[in-house]
Parts: sequence; C-alpha cells; structure tokens
Amino acid sequence: MNEKILIIEDEAAIRQILAEPLKSAGYGVVCAADGVEGLNAFRAQAADLIILDIMLPKLDGYRVCETIRRESRVPIILLTALDSEDAQIKGFDKLADDYITKPFSVRLVLKRVEALLRRTAHDDETKTLRYKDLSICEAERRVCVAGKEVALTRLEFEILLLFMKNVGRVFTRNDLLNLAWGYDFVGGEKGVNFHIMNLRRKLNVGYIETVRGVGYKIAKD
Ligand code: CA
Repeated sequence: MNEKILIIEDEAAIRQILAEPLKSAGYGVVCAADGVEGLNAFRAQAADLIILDIMLPKLDGYRVCETIRRESRVPIILLTALDSEDAQIKGFDKLADDYITKPFSVRLVLKRVEALLRRTAHDDETKTLRYKDLSICEAERRVCVAGKEVALTRLEFEILLLFMKNVGRVFTRNDLLNLAWGYDFVGGEKGVNFHIMNLRRKLNVGYIETVRGVGYKIAKD
C-alpha cells in the first residue's frame, strides 16, 4: 500500500516542489493551501505523514499541529522559513516530529520522510482509525468526533472499534453479544440494541446503520 503524505502549505510553488518528487518516489500526495483546509484534509484522509508549513492563512501551523496531536500521533514535519532556535523549539513543544527550514533540499526532505515513516511503520498500536469526522485510537482508548473527545463506556468503545476496523462489514447482534462477554452487560439482543442506541446518541453522527433483520454496520463510502 502506498503511504499517503499530506502537504499543508500556502505557496503553490512549494507545494509543487514537494509533491512532484514525493509522487515520483511512490507516495500518495494530498495538498491543502491553508490551516483550516489542512485540518479538514487530515480528518478526511488517512495520511501517514504530514508536512506542515508554519506561516499559514486562517490557522497557523503551530495551532494545526496542536490540534492534530490531540487526535493522532501521525508523524509531522514542520516546514518554515523561520530558522531561529525559538521557532524550532516551539515546533517541538507542539509535538512535531521533525523540522525543515526553507530553502530546503528536496533530497533531504525525501530522506527525512522515509526515515520518519520507517520509524512509525510497525507502530500499529499508535495508529488512529478514521471515518469521516470520527477517529478512534486503540492504544490511547480515545474517540473523537470532529476533534472533540467523546467519553464512551468500555463496551461501547469495543463495539465502535470493531466497526471501525471492519468498515462495510455487518455485525449481527450475536457477534456483538460475543464481544460483550465479560463486560457488565444488559442481557440479550435487547441489550445490544440498548448499547448501540447509547453509542449513536453519544457520537451523534449517524454513521452506524441498522441492517434490518441482520445487525449493524458502518457503511463503506
Ligand atoms: Ca507559508
């Protein structure tokens, strides 16, 4: 599978300078031209790495970085003309993984991308699963809707994780009963309906669909 790189940079020329060699190196590339568009792209696309400019219209790179870090551990490389020590330190304080100053060597950017991806490739546990506005991180037991954390019970979390790992697959009430084994559970199939109802109410996004007479799923689209 090709790894996907999200480039958030307002200067079209720099987006292009970065995008072309990354594509040639076999990566999927998505671009955004300001901070807000960048956050939306981050939430809509499952990027494996983000190259993030600091000086951005609408929302600066530090704030974008901070917001992404609340939802995900995806590797972030900050990109900026600010080469002062303070700017770099601030970048690391916002939990960026690396830092590149303009003007940069494209070959060096490629090497850094490669190195960061290698470091995180086998780190499945830290991966955040995403579906539209919804994100779930198994390692951190954290669920967010449009960037806001939602508190779920352990069982609701397990049910949602199962759906998110298997988008498009239908789970019967019996599948979900098996999952619930060992949890504090209101009995039987009615109990499953009850937990699904609570989960839907808390998430309030309408992604969990009822498949009449069978069970539930999150639809693939
Ligand atoms: Ca800029």
